[in-house]
Amino acid sequence: YEPELIRNFCIIAHIDHGKSTLADRFIEKARLVSEREYKDQILDSMDIERERGITIKSQAVSLPFTSSDGKTYHLNLVDTPGHVDFSYEVSRAISACEGALLIIDASQGVEAQTLANMYMAIEHDLEILPVINKIDLPSADIEFVKKQIDHDLGLDMDIAIPISAKTGQGVDELLEALVQFVPPPKPLIDNPLQALIFDSHYDPYRGVVVHIRVMAGRIKLGQEVLFMATGGRYVIEETGVFRIGNEKREELRAGEVGYIIAGIKDIGKVRVGDTVTSARNGCTTPLPGFKEVKPVVFSSIYPVNSDDYEDLLSAIEKLKLNDASLIYEKDSSVALGFGFRCGFLGLLHLEVVQERLEREFDLSIVFTSPSVRYRVTLSNGEKLSIDNPLEFPDPSQIQHAEEPYIKATLITPAEYVGPIINLCLEKRGVQESMTYLDEKRVELVYSMPLAEVLFDFYDKLKSLSRGYASFDYEITDFRPTDLVRLDILINGNPVDALSQLVFRENAAYRARKVCKKLRDEIPRHQFKIPIQGAIGATIIARETISALRKDVTAKCYGGDISRKRKLLEKQKEGKKRMKMVGNVELPQNAFLSVLKAD
Ligand code: GDP
Ligand code: MG
Repeated sequence: YEPELIRNFCIIAHIDHGKSTLADRFIEKARLVSEREYKDQILDSMDIERERGITIKSQAVSLPFTSSDGKTYHLNLVDTPGHVDFSYEVSRAISACEGALLIIDASQGVEAQTLANMYMAIEHDLEILPVINKIDLPSADIEFVKKQIDHDLGLDMDIAIPISAKTGQGVDELLEALVQFVPPPKPLIDNPLQALIFDSHYDPYRGVVVHIRVMAGRIKLGQEVLFMATGGRYVIEETGVFRIGNEKREELRAGEVGYIIAGIKDIGKVRVGDTVTSARNGCTTPLPGFKEVKPVVFSSIYPVNSDDYEDLLSAIEKLKLNDASLIYEKDSSVALGFGFRCGFLGLLHLEVVQERLEREFDLSIVFTSPSVRYRVTLSNGEKLSIDNPLEFPDPSQIQHAEEPYIKATLITPAEYVGPIINLCLEKRGVQESMTYLDEKRVELVYSMPLAEVLFDFYDKLKSLSRGYASFDYEITDFRPTDLVRLDILINGNPVDALSQLVFRENAAYRARKVCKKLRDEIPRHQFKIPIQGAIGATIIARETISALRKDVTAKCYGGDISRKRKLLEKQKEGKKRMKMVGNVELPQNAFLSVLKAD
């Protein structure tokens, strides 16, 4: 145990600047060293493949590195989640470290999340080593990025290390700089145990594997520990460090990063940011910064084919094993049958879940319009939290409603400032500041409703700025809003799954959009079908599908019998995917096209 040889660090970056690629280089190096040192051990271990998978996935890795000073250091890479919705988890991972590698893409320069992540690292007193990545690209401009490091970030540009995470160029120099630059952990071995939970993952054989950084004291095999925020008490069954697999140890000591396994089956019992201490004579105060993370974006998920409900349930349960921030409960809709109401940390989190359900579990699903959670005060003083349009109270009972606001930070090349300001205005944004970072780039800070960001904000921002503007946000507070429920009626029948909670002034526009889409998707029937958008009894948008003049199958009569049978078969197939709303057949595509984000 030589704490002065430990270096705990994380990699922070704007998305796509090369964090994962650099982590892969480190993991590769760790494996090379491990395979040389521990060859026999590895071959003996039957679980190695499984453990390898876990280690690579969670990217917690410890890398022995022999520096030019002749000493061998233990470098612990603490993984941070990659996107804005997980800023709390990023903050916990950061506080498990003494230093951070701040990666900047040499062809893109500083962006919104570069700054947001750097501020977070500064807040936690980390030493920040700037790293200029992708220097192999012809468009790399190292000198320009150095200027930004000096001017925008206020860091020492002379210590910046140019690398290519892709080719490996400069990575050894980077490690050399890291051990010199990042300080070792403070040796608080004699204090009572204080370990920070910064991540966790689920192992089907062992239950939850909790990733910890021991801040003070020691944590031992067989010890009874207390999770201070949840009050859970567990006995340590295994502890160790992240090497090529999980490498068992008798104990972890102050300054070390590793894992504990303690027979925990439910990841919900393990909260990122919680403090682990010993059940007897433990520390009296938890580590600072713990926060209960709450979902802020809600949507219902339904299987396209109702028969897939059980498959959807088991897929969501599997995702939940590894994702404590995913919240779900049963939901049902007259139009779509049984499904789940889910809560997410943000729109990107929702998209990740959607993509995993579709790709990894091969499910066809429909997400209803994402909604934020509103605070509604009724005339009788009762306060409600509402995210599901189906639970919206009678408007006459509502005294007032409030919606969540965000502080949005945008960085854009100066030529797109005009259109972006217009977009923010259109999204009810109020400008807080506008700063020229240099001649070419502007930082805009807006306060705006979170609900507006859920509705074609990213896409518009990207297309307005040709992909150059970057965006970061944090939730700030709740402010009064004029909230209504927009209902969609098909042939006079409301379709519950298409209802949305919207700001009154946006209702007409939204309603027109939905009605137009439905008009294009619903086939003609024998009768005329009105499609309407309504707030209560007031119709605010309308489209009509005119009636069929003739029965389409008529032209087959008298024709070739096998052709007719084929046609009928096809219609039967099609019917299965039709939902009935009153007497109108609604193809699944109609839901998909309306509910898919534009
Ligand atoms: P992350 O979002 O920060 O984790 O970024 P990734 O590591 O996923 O990298 C984003 C993209 O940049 C990927 O297509 C990588 O292959 C590419 N990339 C990363 N590092 C380099 C590099 O040094 N040179 C080049 N040419 N491409 C890189
Ligand atoms: Mg990545």
